Amino acid sequence: MSLSTNLQIDADRLWQALDDMARIGPGIAGGNNRQTLTDEDGEGRRLFRQWCEAAGLRVDVDSMGNMFATRPGADPDATPICLGSHLDTQPTGGRYDGVLGVLAALEVVRTLNDLGIATRRPIVVINWTNEEGARFAPAMISSGVFAGVYQESWAKDRVDAQGLRFGDELRRIGFEGETPVGTHKVGAFFELHIEQGPILEDEGIDIGVVTHGQGLYWLRVTLTGQESHTGSTPMGKRRNAGLALARTVELVHETAMAHQPAAVGTVGHMEVHPNSPNIIAGRAVATIDIRSPHRDTLEAMREAIVSGIDALAEPLGVKAEIEIVGHFDPVAFDPECVAAVRRSADRLGLSHRDIVSGAGHDACYINRIAPTAMIMCPCVGGLSHNEAEAITRQWAGNGANVLLNAVVDAAGVVA
Ligand SMILES: [Zn+2]
Repeated sequence: MSLSTNLQIDADRLWQALDDMARIGPGIAGGNNRQTLTDEDGEGRRLFRQWCEAAGLRVDVDSMGNMFATRPGADPDATPICLGSHLDTQPTGGRYDGVLGVLAALEVVRTLNDLGIATRRPIVVINWTNEEGARFAPAMISSGVFAGVYQESWAKDRVDAQGLRFGDELRRIGFEGETPVGTHKVGAFFELHIEQGPILEDEGIDIGVVTHGQGLYWLRVTLTGQESHTGSTPMGKRRNAGLALARTVELVHETAMAHQPAAVGTVGHMEVHPNSPNIIAGRAVATIDIRSPHRDTLEAMREAIVSGIDALAEPLGVKAEIEIVGHFDPVAFDPECVAAVRRSADRLGLSHRDIVSGAGHDACYINRIAPTAMIMCPCVGGLSHNEAEAITRQWAGNGANVLLNAVVDAAGVVA
């Protein structure tokens, strides 16, 4: 059966849970420092487990430390509907990035309990380990292992800046579970997340229906010319790697501008050698970051940039080498799950628009193995990965209500 009225979560209770979690691993400016596999992460996980158990959920932890809190369904053979995000933060992180998705998922279960609603499929609240990648690179490592993107042994051998191993730290905080990673079933996955960009707030829209995640390339370009004296080398005799770098920065910008609106391009990392005022740069190294939700656009930009760099370097007497050092395919979320999110927002009378996720999320990897969708709510000034990250109780409540209704739709209500 489907429900005739719209279900509503308790926004005050959700807000209180967000406040309580933010007390663990406080930052220095009102945000949080609860980096993955630290004592603070362990404390946050234990509070989350305690809340789940109090809500009648069975909590299981896999060998990557991913936490699965299950509310049984009426049909024991049905694959579960999963929802969640991550509790770890950046070193100077906000209170809501990831945390909202996990605690809103818990609030969904608390609401179903209050209303005495049974679902056909089980509902599983998930906390993915190390989404942020700040302490152990890369980001989204544990949802990545779960989805078969990375090997577990490789992931556990990652080390932090102090040389501590991921696997050792996971065991130290008591969250290396017995269940082999990847064995939990996922019938569908829904992730609520703050937007981390300015679009929803600027346009005064309640809900972002995430249709795509951006694909990206990181291209490392090494430009080799010749170091020589700035005063005595005639302009026509120079092999100036710095000039080639400047033209590369311009090329990346123009290439992204030529593929608007669904493309961005940046050169955020640049080094010139030897970096001296009176030496023409003999070598420059930069990392180009290009992103688009559309594979064709992303590939076209990559080709334009690679051939463009060759073309600009040659007349300068500079040798260009380009290497792919990072790549994600664009993500197209599951049309049925996306439609369920849109329908829920409509039924709740919330304004919504389709949106592309500019950042990576656990949902991007889970989408490879199960139908997946993301819901976004606005955040103040689009600011994130910053202790000043802020949302309103209303925004959090709206997002959680859409999550609740989409999940109940997918899980099916038993009369
Ligand atoms: Zn996040």
